[in-house]
Amino acid sequence: MSMHFSVLASGSTGNAFYVETEDSSILVDAGLSGKQMDSLFQQINRDPSKLSAILVTHEHSDHIKGLGILARKYKLPIYANEKTWKAMESSIGQIPLEQKFIFEMESVKSFGSLEVESFGVSHDAAEPMFYVFHHTGKKLVLITDTGYVSDRMKGIISNADTYIFESNHDVQMLRMGRYPWSVKRRILSDVGHVSNEDAAIAMSEVIGDRTKRIYLAHLSLDNNMKDLARMSVTQTLESQGLRVGEGFSLYDTDPKKPTELVCV
Ligand SMILES: [Zn+2]
Ligand SMILES: [Zn+2]
Repeated sequence: MSMHFSVLASGSTGNAFYVETEDSSILVDAGLSGKQMDSLFQQINRDPSKLSAILVTHEHSDHIKGLGILARKYKLPIYANEKTWKAMESSIGQIPLEQKFIFEMESVKSFGSLEVESFGVSHDAAEPMFYVFHHTGKKLVLITDTGYVSDRMKGIISNADTYIFESNHDVQMLRMGRYPWSVKRRILSDVGHVSNEDAAIAMSEVIGDRTKRIYLAHLSLDNNMKDLARMSVTQTLESQGLRVGEGFSLYDTDPKKPTELVCV
């Protein structure tokens, strides 16, 4: 038995990620409306009422928009660290106490045979964290919404079989674009989002002999394009001596359409 996953939706407009094993199924974030979340589950042929848990990365609306609705509708347990709970409480509505659970940063929890490890990232939220999934020797890493990838993070995420990796913006597009300077500065900062090139540099330092798939995720709607992200990640990896297609491949994610449910 193996671990399967789908990036249900990814981008600045809403994020949701699904992973399952033979005895558990986890949703990370519910950043689209309740209706859209239901439709995403339908598209991968899965029933959201069967989820073991919803894990939350941080309180930004593109990660929690449909969280309260989904959790109440299907009576699902929600896991987040204490600071994130506090920060999101007012925006997700009332959640019954028996559905509220704490998942502290830099800790490990088991859901059936699936082991989930949380780690902190550098982002302007209360206590943002992402996850590494371990199952029967396979390793799956989810990392978006970070201004940079620290050496500590690199240690935790190194040599995974699959990466869902933020490739948020093209620096040139962002600089030239219509955002006010304060927003541009926030995105470019250490607590914003990683650019295509910075993502690729970090990837080049964590890719290992086990790495097969890298999904480019959380692309900015205004400051990036799938082809551009792919091209600039490919080129930067090549400048670091890593060829896409030799050992590992790059995959797109979409803000509205789930990626195919595949095996890690
Ligand atoms: Zn965020
Ligand atoms: Zn986000």
